[in-house]
Amino acid sequence: MLLHRARLLDLHTGVPGFPCDIMIRGDRVESVHPVGGETVGGPDVEVIDLAGRLVIPGLWDQHVHAGQWALASRRLKVSQTARPEEILAEIAAQLDAIADSDGDGIIQGFGLRASRWPANPSAADLDAVTGARPVAIVSADLHSTWCNTAALERLGMSDRPGFLTEADSFTAQIRLAQVSPRTLDRWLDECCRAAAARGVVGIRDMEFSSSTDLWLARQAAGRCPMWVQVAVYPARLQEASGRHLATGQSAAAGSMVEMGPLKIIVDGSISSRSAWCRKPYQGAVGPQRNGVDSIPPEELESLMTRARAAGLRPAVHAIGNLAVHTVLDAFARTGAAGTLEHAQLVDDADLPRFAELGVAASIQPAHLVDDRDTTDVVWADQPHLSFRYRDLLDAGARLLMGSDAPVSPVDPWLAIRVAVERTADRRPGWHLDQAITLSEALLASTGGVSAVRPGGRADLVALDVDPFTTHGEELGSTLATLTIAGGLISHSML
Ligand SMILES: [Zn+2]
Repeated sequence: MLLHRARLLDLHTGVPGFPCDIMIRGDRVESVHPVGGETVGGPDVEVIDLAGRLVIPGLWDQHVHAGQWALASRRLKVSQTARPEEILAEIAAQLDAIADSDGDGIIQGFGLRASRWPANPSAADLDAVTGARPVAIVSADLHSTWCNTAALERLGMSDRPGFLTEADSFTAQIRLAQVSPRTLDRWLDECCRAAAARGVVGIRDMEFSSSTDLWLARQAAGRCPMWVQVAVYPARLQEASGRHLATGQSAAAGSMVEMGPLKIIVDGSISSRSAWCRKPYQGAVGPQRNGVDSIPPEELESLMTRARAAGLRPAVHAIGNLAVHTVLDAFARTGAAGTLEHAQLVDDADLPRFAELGVAASIQPAHLVDDRDTTDVVWADQPHLSFRYRDLLDAGARLLMGSDAPVSPVDPWLAIRVAVERTADRRPGWHLDQAITLSEALLASTGGVSAVRPGGRADLVALDVDPFTTHGEELGSTLATLTIAGGLISHSML
């Protein structure tokens, strides 16, 4: 494949190059020549004319829960305060964006609160906006589920009224959670294609029940064309060690599926006040007043030692500053190298240890938008320790970016915008002294690759706009014109 008239954008400098021809063979960039120079290719080579568009290296999402991402993609958002007629309008507005479901797939909404509604709505009310597509909306407290006629049929509950309550609602929810692997794969494929439209060429899948075999089967069926590094959890460390696949190694010759890290979870989250912190949460008492430490340090070190022996790099979830400190200690003692996932609250003394120990900080900037209000309350007395991307970079840490989807969307441009502007809504940037530059944010999205070069992997994205000249909403909604992952076109608007 020959990409004609491409202008390579160097992410270090932000300066686009002169038009060139990029020759791709297999999953590699074979050569890059100025246009009009040496003739490359031949009559059998597919030529794509980029007409001077900018080309950057492919973007990654380093933290995705793939199965949950696929399920959540079918979940419509419903306001908790909405009345039935408002919910119908919300559903109608979102339904178009969801491709038709098949098999056992029921489109699901979540979050309604019916306690103050004068009467229960009917299946026919919902049919009026959904037509024959099966839709079920679960209430925020799970005690009711509003189904249309098609959903009642799929659930085998056609003899019930459309607004299911109590036992009927719980029965419906158990059935709603059962999606066949085939349907889930189809949804996941749509998610991956939407991600490719944002320039994503690879993800690290942190799903608990995922496996390289599952992904190999998906890709053999032509689905989800992107690089996938599949994490394993401690419960399957023994089995993974037996396969003699190191992190980053291909799971099958010629495939895009690779062994991922060993994922270990050390603490909780900010919103549930379970991130493990030096200071107790305000007003909290009892043994968990500092959050939750899910694993004793000796066990953590033993797992990391075993992982290291098996060639697996640990990816350790640590959000609170005590969790971060403990995990860095474990990296130091075991000599393992890997990633520290989230790193939302970091002490000054721990900042330089990331670089010293070869531990990358795998961050999810979009969390900052969702968590800033909670952080202002929960960590009010230590805001300077939160989401400190600037300090991490200045201390030499390597940053990698992701979404923790479905917690935030698989959208590197949202992450990039937030890392640079510390906001993605109308509020001013939050602690702007911790903002990083666009160049730094892009490099954290490409895994450190600054430009498409001969000999490198053919993972690249063509853009209509120059990200270095955009900002705000425009930067955050950047779309790829063409995405190539491993030499394959995974998205094209040409
Ligand atoms: Zn996660």
